[in-house]
Amino acid sequence: MSSPSAAELAARVRRGEVTATSVLEEHLARVAAREPEVHAFCLVTEDLARAQAAEVDRRVAAGVDPGPLAGVPVALKDLLCTKGIPTTCCSRILAGWRPPYDATVVRRLAAAGAVMVGKTNMDEFAMGSSTEHSAFGPTRNPRDLSRVPGGSSGGSAAAVAAGFAPLALGSDTGGSVRQPAALCGVVGAKPTYGLVSRFGLVAFASSLDQVGPFAANVADAALALDVISGHDEADSTSLPGEPPKASAKLGLGVEGVRVGVIAELAEAEGIAPDVARRLREAADALASAGAKVEEISVPALRYALSAYYLIAPAEASSNLARYDGVRYGLREQRADMTETYIATRSAGFGPEVKRRVMLGTYALSAGYYDAYYGKAQKVRTLIIRGFEEAYRSCDVLLSPTSPTTAFALGAKTADPLSMYMSDICTIPSNLAGHPAVSVPFGTGDDGLPVGAQVLAPALGEAEMFQVAAALERLAPAPAPATGAER
Ligand code: GLN
Repeated sequence: MSSPSAAELAARVRRGEVTATSVLEEHLARVAAREPEVHAFCLVTEDLARAQAAEVDRRVAAGVDPGPLAGVPVALKDLLCTKGIPTTCCSRILAGWRPPYDATVVRRLAAAGAVMVGKTNMDEFAMGSSTEHSAFGPTRNPRDLSRVPGGSSGGSAAAVAAGFAPLALGSDTGGSVRQPAALCGVVGAKPTYGLVSRFGLVAFASSLDQVGPFAANVADAALALDVISGHDEADSTSLPGEPPKASAKLGLGVEGVRVGVIAELAEAEGIAPDVARRLREAADALASAGAKVEEISVPALRYALSAYYLIAPAEASSNLARYDGVRYGLREQRADMTETYIATRSAGFGPEVKRRVMLGTYALSAGYYDAYYGKAQKVRTLIIRGFEEAYRSCDVLLSPTSPTTAFALGAKTADPLSMYMSDICTIPSNLAGHPAVSVPFGTGDDGLPVGAQVLAPALGEAEMFQVAAALERLAPAPAPATGAER
């Protein structure tokens, strides 16, 4: 891709070679040209972006360093709170809600000199794998407009793939950063649980949710993660101490690095043959670059999807109880409170959110709790132990990110289970609280991007990005930038 990286753009702005304003206008021109067909955004915040870019330019002129992301346009998933700017989670129930504060990650980006170009489209409350569950209509994959961009952070992935912004943030509860990154041919990472503050991230499943970056290349994703990571007093699940530097080992190569190819995910049922083939190529490429590659079995991963689809809906049913028509957004007034709650939630939530709330409430109900939620938590422990075992002999693990390349719009909306299957490779890291990153590695038989996933133990971000950077260098020639013509 010919566009300069985020790091390069920031360097040029800091040196005064280009203005943040001109960088922004170039990106806004791309948005004007292709956003009508891609629909990556639910809101483009041009005025805010222009004001932020002007401020960066004032600083440079005054000899003040605006920071490591000086003038870099960034797109934000619409479940990150932005002060005074609508934040909808792409749900009718939050239509019109303007948060009274910024999420910590949004403040950190701004403090690093980034410019916020807009709020991106997503599956309602981050529940989905295709961005088709948005109340505001789907996003299309910029590389093939007949295909989905993945989800739930499909708008953020598409924004980076279409060149609307070199960086974007999403949230990843079961794969919602990595899977759309894979389908759109960009890099997407989920950090270690607790590494990035969730203050101001609208909650889906609190024991799984993490904020993660999208970028067109590995170094930019690591840079963005380094800007947003670190302890935050406002988030009780935020890890104490110095965060690992994600970009510390990018150039080191993989000589002697022990890579385990996860047997249960490499050739599992549902993994398309072209994706499995690319993964073998990725493993071979790492081996020829000096890595010690072996196949490794983590048997408990077979139950990860089932456990996730109990735990995530259970936590969601509790988190979403707050949308009652009293405190936020939509209110369908009726004669009494109960009727008002029912009418508001019936009108405000879409079908997938209702399905999750019902599944979760059922799984948590007295008499079923032990059989469903309790059992899922036990599986979670087995998965954590399985990974512990694997990391005794491996530094990182490798798997596909998504079982298939981008599928057609409408292909899975009628069959929730087939949609859920999109997450088989990404969910295990969320259940374990571990980091994982998706890197483009060639294309499938349809010419669309395939993502390779590098998994690491908790706080293994530096080694994870080290291997991801090697894979990026070893990858077959990238797919043509934007397939608008198809
Ligand atoms: N697709 C998964 C789900 O629907 C994961 C979503 C996410 O990571 N937010 O739950």
